[in-house]
Amino acid sequence: MNIRMVDTVGQYGHIQSEIDTAVLEVVRSGAYINGPSVKQFKQNLSEYLDGAAVIPCANGTDALQVALMALDLEPGDEVITPSFTFVATVEVIELLGLIPVYADVDPETFNMSPAAIEEAITPKTKVIIPVHLFGQVADMEPIMEIAAQHKLAVVEDTAQAIGATYTFSDGRTMMAGTIGDIGTTSFYPSKNLGAFGDGGAIFSRNEQLAEKIQTICNHGSRVKYYHESIGVNSRLDSIQAAILDIKLKHLNEYNAARQEAAKRYDEMLKDVQGIQLPKWKENGSHVFHQYTLRILGGRSVRDALKQSLADAGIPSMVYYPVCIHLQGAYQTDRFGNGSLPISEQMTEEVLSLPMHTELDEAQQRFITDTLKEQLPTFEITH
Ligand SMILES: *Cc1c(COP(=O)(O)O)cnc(C)c1O
Repeated sequence: MNIRMVDTVGQYGHIQSEIDTAVLEVVRSGAYINGPSVKQFKQNLSEYLDGAAVIPCANGTDALQVALMALDLEPGDEVITPSFTFVATVEVIELLGLIPVYADVDPETFNMSPAAIEEAITPKTKVIIPVHLFGQVADMEPIMEIAAQHKLAVVEDTAQAIGATYTFSDGRTMMAGTIGDIGTTSFYPSKNLGAFGDGGAIFSRNEQLAEKIQTICNHGSRVKYYHESIGVNSRLDSIQAAILDIKLKHLNEYNAARQEAAKRYDEMLKDVQGIQLPKWKENGSHVFHQYTLRILGGRSVRDALKQSLADAGIPSMVYYPVCIHLQGAYQTDRFGNGSLPISEQMTEEVLSLPMHTELDEAQQRFITDTLKEQLPTFEITH
């Protein structure tokens, strides 16, 4: 059995002729940068996001950097963010001379806990960056309330959760990335909406902010060769836009396939002792960018299981093995070892199983049977 962590090539197989035609059309048109496919994708994604403005850019890291650049921050301003995330979220904070202040996560959802965010606020706090980790939206209702109370901007890192929704207590449902002041995403090939190369986008419901973001992405220029601010060069190329525009039409179906696969895993693993299955929160959808278990025996048990799975031909991944505040480049006195106990614990316990749109029941049966057979026995430490 050939089991993959992600299967972008298998997914392409179902829409091959449509994609091939669209790519060739761009190649033959010569409009490689800012061609019609970019405008069309921008418009269709905006419609998908219930009318939020969309500014396509080069990748998800640029999207985060540009979002922060648009907020008129001063060096030394503080940004509250999780430490249990992909490095890009924090990297851009540091690059802009801002200070990351970490809030611990909830051990059931892996997302920042609103109570921890509140505790992390100081007079220097300006922004909160919730990361919708593994495909589930952070608890945006309390986060937006905290932000309003303290006049903070909210930038949602939606790289792993495009297409997910969040439902407020009054019944309103919003798309991930359109709830805060700015949302960012990545079209890295393995993301839920993946290009065949790099890509990203920035969202905002605030028209002035959207205009500013567009200007920053274009060298700080609105009128060619006139520069009103210092910007960057961050564009989505026409070929990637053409591919993404086709895949966008299938995004809901792709996310549903991931949810079906997650349900099958849940069912197959429901009686296994010593692991915690992903939590499906009721106030939103989970689009399962990753299907992430907690292996309650901790790092040695988790790592042994990962190795046994690998020996049986089953890939699995640890997202993420080290918190950002403990990484060589990011260590500070303010956040030492033990300062974010849940985040640190998660790095010892998480294991993500293969998850993609092409995963079938037979593959999942083999994965879960092997997991049950190979899970070492241990005493629960936490
Ligand atoms: C993938 C990812 C990014 C960065 O996206 P790139 O397109 O690779 O730059 C940022 N944040 C999170 C949470 C991600 O998963």
